[in-house]
Amino acid sequence: MTSRPDRSTALAHLHAEIVRRNPAEHEFHQAAREVLDSLGPALAARSEYRDPGLVERLIEPERQIIFRVPWQDDQGCVHVNRGFRIEYNSALGPYKGGLRFHPSVNLGIIKFLGFEQVFKNALTGLGIGGGKGGSDFDPQGRSDAEVMRFCQSFMTELYRHIGEYTDVPAGDIGVGSREIGYLFGQYRRITNRWEGGVLTGKRAGWGGSLIRPEATGYGNVLFAEAMLHERGEDLEGQTAVVSGSGNVALYTIQKLIALGANPVTCSDSSGYVVDEKGIDLELLCQIKEVERGRVSTYAERRGSSARFVPGGRVWEVPADLALPSATQNELDEDAAATLIRNGVKAVSEGANMPTTPKAVQLLQQAGVAFGPGKAANAGGVAVSALEMTQNASRTTWKADQVENELARIMTDIHNTCAETAERYGSPGDYVTGANIAGFERVADAVLAQGVI
Ligand code: NDP
Repeated sequence: MTSRPDRSTALAHLHAEIVRRNPAEHEFHQAAREVLDSLGPALAARSEYRDPGLVERLIEPERQIIFRVPWQDDQGCVHVNRGFRIEYNSALGPYKGGLRFHPSVNLGIIKFLGFEQVFKNALTGLGIGGGKGGSDFDPQGRSDAEVMRFCQSFMTELYRHIGEYTDVPAGDIGVGSREIGYLFGQYRRITNRWEGGVLTGKRAGWGGSLIRPEATGYGNVLFAEAMLHERGEDLEGQTAVVSGSGNVALYTIQKLIALGANPVTCSDSSGYVVDEKGIDLELLCQIKEVERGRVSTYAERRGSSARFVPGGRVWEVPADLALPSATQNELDEDAAATLIRNGVKAVSEGANMPTTPKAVQLLQQAGVAFGPGKAANAGGVAVSALEMTQNASRTTWKADQVENELARIMTDIHNTCAETAERYGSPGDYVTGANIAGFERVADAVLAQGVI
């Protein structure tokens, strides 16, 4: 049997290889390191996990697709963007994971998201593998017609790689139901197939699941509530800071209000809003979803209870709970120290990898309950999988059926993470619990299916 120092040396060597073979992919290095750092106890406990090449096969994506996306703007100018689809691991089911359209997108970001997705999808207990995609296209400030032409060009290449039994994309930053509609239309046109299960996040009425738009935010609030229950507390009366003002943030705010908490912030890339009376969700949705405006407009219209802080970060506002719901690495060491000083009890990640490794360490050392994204925000992909089930059986579930199922899945994920952490000697450490529980499920399937 290999000794403990040898195992950690082997994992450190593997990480060095990841950095060498994937240069400049910093977010991918970060996501891989976090998982590798958690795996020691699982490898020590089960000899089959020390199978040479197992972890290496989980690290290396099954397929990486990069393509050109040319499109014309409203003035007739031609733009050329880059499209990505990383088909990471299909041991548990078809590749599944969203598409991100944002100017910051590059190969390293899509690989980190795809890698996280593999373990997240495993945690749901459903039959979905992991993948992720997107483009460096910036939809902000573009007309509907420009977004449509971009989506059509993107799908003109992507269609040959996806399918309901192969790879099933969905939304992420910059990709909501409008973009999914244009993408689905072009797929249907090219393939001449009405294949509902090829994309999720479709609108209700033509194959979309009720509660899919709400699922990530709702699920994260349920995960935060479960962590609080473990400590004999409840959401009722707790003040919460939420970052972002997109899909995840809006439904996080909605669920917090429904469960008696008081969300007081939202943000976008220009700054944040703090509202002493609590966020007025109707006003925020009008500005963000109907007008596609900025959060500064919220402060202008809301009156004296709200102010806009240009360039600031929501973490400076004192709160019991923090729910980062915008983007990766938005909550750093300084922000964590401020949250701790202000008495935060729980941090639950709606976004993917929003908390830097140092910040996670600080929060955990201070005894703050910390819910990692691959567990806490898994509600979105879980309901996407329920959308696939509805498409396959040509049925539409009622909203309360989907919501009950989402609540059951989030409870299961919470309990699985807690029990796994306990089993491996790290009670209350949801990061270790999520990484090992996700790893166990995928690793068992990969081992059973041979060296492929
Ligand atoms: P949206 O595009 O709907 O909203 C993103 C929000 O985050 C916007 O307010 C945006 O502000 C802000 N934001 C994005 N990038 C940056 C940046 N670089 N700096 C500052 N603010 C930024 O995306 P979603 O709500 O769908 O996604 C939010 C997060 O949740 C992402 O990390 C995503 O991967 C994760 N997630 C999403 C799921 C889903 O179902 N949609 C599922 C699981 C995780 P601005 O408009 O100024 O750019």
